[in-house]
Amino acid sequence: MPDKTIFKRIIDGEIPADVVYDDELCLAFRDINPQAPTHILVIPKKEIASVNGLTDADQALVGHLYLVIVRLAKDYDLAATGYRVVVNTGTHGGQTVDHLHFHLLGGRSLQWPPG
Ligand code: AMP
Repeated sequence: MPDKTIFKRIIDGEIPADVVYDDELCLAFRDINPQAPTHILVIPKKEIASVNGLTDADQALVGHLYLVIVRLAKDYDLAATGYRVVVNTGTHGGQTVDHLHFHLLGGRSLQWPPG
C-alpha cells in the first residue's frame, strides 16, 4: 500500500487544513501556498490520483465537484469578476500531490498563457 498523500491525511483528519466546505463526497480548503488572494483546493474524498484515474463511475462525482467550485466562487465573490479552475496533471502539468484536486483561483487578474 503506497503512503497516504497529504490530501488523504487531511481528509482523515490527521493534519489540519483551513476547510471552507465539507460534504460526504468532497472537501475544500485553502491552499497553504496561495497563488491568488483566493486560492481554494477542491478534492474528492475518494482516492483518485489524477484526472487520468477517472472512470465512468465518477461522472456524477466530477459534476458534483464542479458545482461545489461554482458555489464557492459565488460565496467568495469571485463569480462576477471571474476566476480560474486549474487541474494540474502529471509531471508536465506540474502536479505535485497525487490526489485529484481542482484549484480555484481568483481575486486578481490572472495571466495567460500559464508558464
Ligand atoms: P499541484 O501542484 O497542482 O499538485 O497542487 C498541490 C497544491 O497543494 C499546491 O498548490 C500546494 O501549495 C498545496 N498544498 C500542499 N500541501 C498542502 C497542505 N497541507 N494544505 C493545503 N495546501 C497544500
